[in-house]
Amino acid sequence: MKTLVLNAGYEPIRVVSWEKAMILLLTEKAEMIKAYKRFVRSARHSFQLPQIIKLKRYVTNFTLAAGVIAYSRHNVFKRDKFQCQYCAKKLNEKTATLDHIIPKSKGGLDSWDNTVCCCMSCNSHKGNRTLEESHMTLMRPPRRPALRVALREMLAEFECEEWGI
Ligand SMILES: [Zn+2]
Repeated sequence: MKTLVLNAGYEPIRVVSWEKAMILLLTEKAEMIKAYKRFVRSARHSFQLPQIIKLKRYVTNFTLAAGVIAYSRHNVFKRDKFQCQYCAKKLNEKTATLDHIIPKSKGGLDSWDNTVCCCMSCNSHKGNRTLEESHMTLMRPPRRPALRVALREMLAEFECEEWGI
């Protein structure tokens, strides 16, 4: 299922997956213009699948505007499920720290693929060193969270446990 995205001035700009269109709708970045006669259902809510949506704000760079999961310290922790990516320790908002895989002092960026959730002891053990220098290994390579994961979480907030597509 594909969705046509119109700019705020109704000019067509792109065709996206329905998942991406749903995220734009649920984050109130876009409004529904026309829907398919198909639904995403849950026990308490149902969402009509978007066929055409229109962005609420005029954009010149759609890729930027549609960047649905903003990079932030908290979102990195959420992506890593509040688990230290070195020793697997379970953490929480108070105990989690953000580790730069390539340290900032060595040019490492604040980005999805250079930061992970880390416990205090692993973070201080690694210190200002790279993975090679510290002989530490990551549980999994860090990436930008997948769109489907984001959608699943967003639907979960609407108490959608199942959605039949
Ligand atoms: Zn750790």
